Order: sequence, then structure tokens, then C-alpha cells
Amino acid sequence: MVEKMVRDFAGKEIAPRIKDLDRAQTFDRNILKQMAELGILGICVPEKYGGGGMDYISLGLACEELEYVDTSLRVILSVHVALNSLTLLTWGSEEQKQKYLVPQAKGEKIATYALTEPNAGSDAVGIQTYAKLEGDRYILNGEKMWISLADVADNFITFAWTDREKQKKRDHSGMSAFIVERGMKGLNTATIHGKLGIRAGNTGSISFSDVEVPRENLLGKEGEGFKIAMFAIDQGRYTVAAGATGLVRACLDASVKYAHERQAFGVEIGHHQLIKEMIAGMARDYDAARLLWMRAGWLKNQGMRNTRETALAKWFACDASERAAADAVQIHGAYGYSDEYPAERFYRNCKGAVIYEGAREIQKLLHGDYALGYRKDKPLRCSLPSWPFE
Ligand SMILES: Cc1cc2nc3c(=O)[nH]c(=O)nc-3n(C[C@H](O)[C@H](O)[C@H](O)COP(=O)(O)OP(=O)(O)OC[C@H]3O[C@@H](n4cnc5c(N)ncnc54)[C@H](O)[C@@H]3O)c2cc1C
Repeated sequence: MVEKMVRDFAGKEIAPRIKDLDRAQTFDRNILKQMAELGILGICVPEKYGGGGMDYISLGLACEELEYVDTSLRVILSVHVALNSLTLLTWGSEEQKQKYLVPQAKGEKIATYALTEPNAGSDAVGIQTYAKLEGDRYILNGEKMWISLADVADNFITFAWTDREKQKKRDHSGMSAFIVERGMKGLNTATIHGKLGIRAGNTGSISFSDVEVPRENLLGKEGEGFKIAMFAIDQGRYTVAAGATGLVRACLDASVKYAHERQAFGVEIGHHQLIKEMIAGMARDYDAARLLWMRAGWLKNQGMRNTRETALAKWFACDASERAAADAVQIHGAYGYSDEYPAERFYRNCKGAVIYEGAREIQKLLHGDYALGYRKDKPLRCSLPSWPFE
């Protein structure tokens, strides 16, 4: 039912407009309203916090269907639901959940996650933002960059050092997480223009200039920021994996349609074996990517540690979507080079996910470490043990 509902919404409401939205390079806030009405902005947040009470597989299916139409739609669920709301659900105090999570789950407020800075992305310990405790407030100074929905969101989970000595030693137990709100004095956002892809989405920067953050907006304990950032990424990567799987399917469907329509050398091009080979690769990758994200979702539903499985699904699905999009353009020939067909948008959109939430190189290092036994996950606090089957 979730799959069908999201497919109908994205297919009927957004697909007919997506080329224009992408060309205009503007974010249509009305889409958020429509997603809120559907209930997907709180899809797997428990009902007692205003959400839909669904499970992780439902979240993945929604991501697949959204990215089938456009990556910008899936990004909304990645930052608003996975990176922010599910992190609040696990690490937030009851007061924080009531104040921030409930309106987010209902879609009354939009949220995102701000870790990356102009000089630190993969190397999260390299961030410079600092929060100094003065009485009952933290004074936040710094800059965040490449933040999805930065210029749209009302609420942000962000990260800053709270211990200078630990920062010098790159000891991440000196980093803390905060909930900040638009409207706090000294917090400003801007949109980044001229992006390669995800042009119907909003990506921007945030500056913190002596922003006074009430002490009660510290998320978790002081020093737990890095752990919280990595927990959030386990959620975010899952949505990226499922979304990239949807993009593989979009490339496959567009390619199959075109391969039946286009004739060359007296036959439809699908009969040429080299075209067939590209299409077969997409079909293989779609099934494999889907099984990988579903395995990760199943583990999440059980409350089991899933860092490795989620990262593997993300790595595979994103690489697969890059291959599929390149092949989809190729199959369309010159028409693939034009926005008359969606393949060129898929080609521009797929690239982001090979960079964010653990770039391809970081995934290779991570999975090399797992294979070699250099990295063994401890059964840390992971998902929500008894939920959603409580
Ligand atoms: C469209 C988009 C949306 C984004 N949304 C968000 C968001 O909502 N919130 C947020 O916090 N961030 C967001 N990001 C930022 C994203 O998470 C970072 O871009 C990502 O972590 C990579 O960091 P970087 O760009 O600084 O690259 P760098 O870390 O500078 O890396 C540059 C290159 O070096 C490689 N590299 C780095 N370290 C190693 C190593 N040890 N070994 C081998 N190669 C290495 C990288 O893989 C990459 O190829 C977004 C980015 C994009 C493009």
C-alpha cells in the first residue's frame, strides 16, 4: 500500500512537472505540503509522536518510489525523516521529542542535518564549528556547507566541538550535537546555485555567528556528538540506498521503452546484443540493490546493528545507479544528450549519492576494513529494539 500510494503521488503529481522544476532550478515548497498530507514526512515515526508508525521497509519503499521520479524528492525523506527525525527519536529527550519531533512527523516543520563544512566532509572530525558554554546557553560559531534543504528547513541537527583540547587531538569525544532553529539570532542560510544535479532540490549553506543555543537543545550528552552523527548516517545511508535503487529502475524502464521504440539497421535497437547487455546489467543491479537495502531494513526493524549492511547497500546501489544512468544515456544516443528524455537528468542526479553519506572511496575503505577484520562493530545502541512491533 505504501509503495502504491507513493508511486501514485510521485507519478501523478510530480512526474508531469519535474522537467520544468529541474530546468528552473528551484525548490517547490508546495511538494512538502503534499508530502505532509500523504503522511510520508513522518512515515516511520511512531504514532505517539505524530508519525505513521510504519517500519523501515516502508521507508525504503517510499524512497525507491520517490527517486524513481526524481532524486530531489527522495532527498527530502533522507534529511527530514532519516537523518533528523529518526535521530531525534533515538537520542532526543522527551521534551525535545515533543517540541521538535512531533511537528516534524506531522509535516508542520521541516528538518535537516548539518555536519559538512567548507573544509571538512569525509573527515567529519575536521569540522571547525565551536560551541562555548556560557551560563545556560551555548554560543555557536561556524559554517556548514552542502546542506540539503538548508534554505528551506525550520529545524537543524548540527555538530560542533565543545572541547578545544580534544579538538586539537582529534579526539571525537569532544564533539557535541545540537538542535538549532531558523529564527535564532545569528543563524543565516543561503542556497547554492549551479549544481550538476538534484536541481529541483535545495542545497545550501548555514552560518552561525554567535548563535545562542539554549542548553536544553544539546542532543544527547556533551561529547556524544560524533556518535550521534554516525548513528544518523546509518539511517541516512539506508534511504540513499533505497533511492538509488529506484533510480536504477527508472533508468531500466526508460531504456527498455526506448529500445523498443528506436530502430537501427532495420530492427528495434533492443535486438542488438550490445544494447541488450546494458539493459541486462540494469535488471541484475536492480534486483541486487533491492535485496541489499531490504536486508538492511530488516535488520533495522529487528533493532540489530546494521552499519555494515546499510553501508554495503548504499555503496552498491549508488555505483549501480551511476552505471545505469550512463548506460541509459548511451542507449538513447543523441536523444539521451537532451532533456527531451529523462536519461540526462538521471545522469546528472546519480552523481551526488556517490559523494554524500560516505563517498565511494570511504565505502571501499570501510568494507576493506570489515573484510580484513580491522573493523568489528560492537553491538552498540542501534535502532529501536522493540519498535515498531511494540
Ligand atoms: C547534493 C549534496 C547534498 C548534500 N547534503 C548534505 C547534508 O544534507 N548534510 C551534510 O552534512 N552534508 C551534505 N552533503 C555533503 C557531503 O556529505 C560531503 O560532500 C561528503 O561527505 C564528501 O565530503 P567533501 O565533499 O568535503 O569531499 P572530501 O572529503 O574533501 O573528499 C574529496 C575526495 O577525496 C576522497 N577522499 C577523502 N578522504 C579519503 C581517504 N581517506 N581515502 C581516499 N579518498 C578519500 C573523497 O572520497 C572524495 O572523492 C551533501 C553533498 C552534496 C553534493
